[in-house]
Amino acid sequence: MWLIKVSLSKTNDDFPSDISFWIKIHGLPLHYWTDGALHAIGSDLGVVETKDVDQGRVRVRINGLKPLEMQLDITLPSSGTKKVELHYEKLEKHCFLCHSLSHEESECSQRNAPAVNRTSSRGINHAQTIESLESYRRARDDRKIERGRFVEASRREADYHRRRSDIH
Ligand SMILES: [Zn+2]
Repeated sequence: MWLIKVSLSKTNDDFPSDISFWIKIHGLPLHYWTDGALHAIGSDLGVVETKDVDQGRVRVRINGLKPLEMQLDITLPSSGTKKVELHYEKLEKHCFLCHSLSHEESECSQRNAPAVNRTSSRGINHAQTIESLESYRRARDDRKIERGRFVEASRREADYHRRRSDIH
């Protein structure tokens, strides 16, 4: 397989299954595109080789035998826990079911397994929970804005009546 051939040329003698990837972190607030934050995220995935703060990406040497982490929960000092998506650059072929680099989806042993046993299902459920929490928060904020507008409108109406009674 083409990917494996390229990967082999990049391996480390001590850890023959290690592969280096540029990993772009999606969903990380811009003010956390710092050396420290990228290093912390990269260290969670493997051995950090270098960082690219301008592009919000980190180069990490990871164990190619382990499933790839596609999402990561990170804790930010200001906004608490946040889910970021990891995009592996030049990742041509991998298994979309179990995120392994050793085979493709058509050859995956988890292909016919019930959905609950798939490694990705837990992550997705968790993401949906975060998503619904966020839409709840948004709806609440919208209501606050609506109430604000209503107050504004009745105040304007009151002004209008006052001005009218001034005339008479
Ligand atoms: Zn698989």
